[in-house]
Amino acid sequence: MAKLTILEFPDPRLRRKAVAVESVDEKIKTLVDDLLETMYDAPGIGLAATQVDVHMRVLVTDLSEDKSAPLVLINPEILSRDGVEVTEEGCLSVPGVYEKVERAEHITVKALDRDGNSVEMEAHGLLAVCIQHECDHLDGKLFVDYLSELKRQRIRTRLQKARRLDQDQPHKAPAI
Ligand code: ZN
Repeated sequence: MAKLTILEFPDPRLRRKAVAVESVDEKIKTLVDDLLETMYDAPGIGLAATQVDVHMRVLVTDLSEDKSAPLVLINPEILSRDGVEVTEEGCLSVPGVYEKVERAEHITVKALDRDGNSVEMEAHGLLAVCIQHECDHLDGKLFVDYLSELKRQRIRTRLQKARRLDQDQPHKAPAI
């Protein structure tokens, strides 16, 4: 397993649309393992392949406190969305920034698992938010896109300044 480098906003590579995985082979399984290692190390509760500059439709999440519930979704497709949930979101690609975003409270998702088996599942609350956030990454979309242009510009400036000063932005909450 290897820890991968996470791209940060406003890196244009975060805007690329990921392509579907054709077969879940050893290469994809290695990518899944690397994504999990990178997410746990960050630490975060979700990571999409796009964030490590691999433009394939693969995402991982784990909402447990002890890394005991990894969820791997390959070629995820959100089949239905219900209800409204407003959550303060963070993102490993937008370090130190937390903003309220409105998403569906309940979703159903179809995907392939790490073994290439087809799965269909329901997700509520934080897991539903997390999957929607990661699916957005695969389409080149970031949670800051839901904010106003002014707010987005402020975040861009703040991150650029922080990078210039070479400061690490502390994470005050789990980031996805
Ligand atoms: Zn994210």
